[in-house]
Amino acid sequence: MNTETIRELNDQHIINTYGARKLALARGEGARLWDVDGREYLDFFAGIAVCNLGHCHPKVTEAICEQARTLVHVSNLYYIEPQVKLAALLSEHCFADKWFFCNGGAEANEAALKIARRYWYQQGAPKPGIVAAEQSFHGRTLATVATTGQPKYHQGFEPLLPGIHHVPYDDIEALAAAITNDVGLVILEPVQGEGGVRVPKPGYLPAARELCDAKGVLLAFDEVQTGLGRTGSLFAYQNENVIPDIITLAKGLGNGVPIGAMGCTDKVAEGFSPGSHACTFGGNPLSAAAALATFTQLTTPGFIETARETGRYFIGRLLDLAKNYDCVHEVRGLGLMIGVEFDRGVAPLIESMLNAGVICGPAGPTVLRFLPPLIVDKAAVDCVVASLAAALEELGW
Ligand SMILES: *Cc1c(COP(=O)(O)O)cnc(C)c1O
Repeated sequence: MNTETIRELNDQHIINTYGARKLALARGEGARLWDVDGREYLDFFAGIAVCNLGHCHPKVTEAICEQARTLVHVSNLYYIEPQVKLAALLSEHCFADKWFFCNGGAEANEAALKIARRYWYQQGAPKPGIVAAEQSFHGRTLATVATTGQPKYHQGFEPLLPGIHHVPYDDIEALAAAITNDVGLVILEPVQGEGGVRVPKPGYLPAARELCDAKGVLLAFDEVQTGLGRTGSLFAYQNENVIPDIITLAKGLGNGVPIGAMGCTDKVAEGFSPGSHACTFGGNPLSAAAALATFTQLTTPGFIETARETGRYFIGRLLDLAKNYDCVHEVRGLGLMIGVEFDRGVAPLIESMLNAGVICGPAGPTVLRFLPPLIVDKAAVDCVVASLAAALEELGW
């Protein structure tokens, strides 16, 4: 099928939650994608921070094929070898002692919200209150959308889950004031993704940890976007060495195969007991095998260090470019999670770059966001920076 035929079928049969799209992509390899009409693109969005190893990484493809030939699915009524191997490997590299597997980011955050509430209930001192940040994004289920601090996502879905308070991000006094006696959980993204690639000031996350300790509140980091090498460390909590009680992962975990995870300390894990939570597909053999192969590659010595260096180079190049354009408000980011804020809407810029064969995306209306596969090299970065400069010229910004 060509793009036009696909668009017609889409409009007829797909519920319109994503709006009109430009491309129908058919094939990928590394940071390259090809559409159904054969046009090639350089992918600097990675399926929204999903394909961190690049598209169709041979080791992941091999693991998927091998597992698909052996056993695709059994339920969690049985032990699952790839799942326990994955959990053990994650724990080797992460503070979390124990894991619950699910299918994506919202489900991972649902598990985090539920285990926190149940933890305090089990302690005999229920504290159902949750504090989250304004501009945050935690997912689209009714509980995670209520936790998400962006009113545009709430519209028409009221009444929202009660007990959730939002505070300005990167404001420790506001956080301190919001942690009242009924609050049992603070949930934060270590770098806000959908909210505009917002990197908090150094010291904010450590101070949040201290506050939670002082007030006896659990701290969860939503690392669905920041995790798995995206910010230049395996997990973003490691950048300032702030250990949360709960972590959630998804996007990059299976390099494209749907899988999410909620990890926590042994202590918090006691919040759940048999029957308190479940997920039919969670950590099934196929998704766990894909994640196991992905995580093995991510933790190859030097892999993330190289990505961090590429990110530093990319931000440097963007800062240089910004000097020539007054329309650029700010360049910010960590590792290969990078945002460029403009004084106007970035939609035409994204379209212009796409026409030139470069895929990137927005983070809110005025922020251009880059989330390339972590395997991109400096030559690819140069190519994208040149494409951005050309697009800015073309638009006369
Ligand atoms: C994408 C994202 C989610 C939601 O993940 P889904 O897999 O789409 O449910 C949650 N939190 C953060 C920080 C995200 O970036």
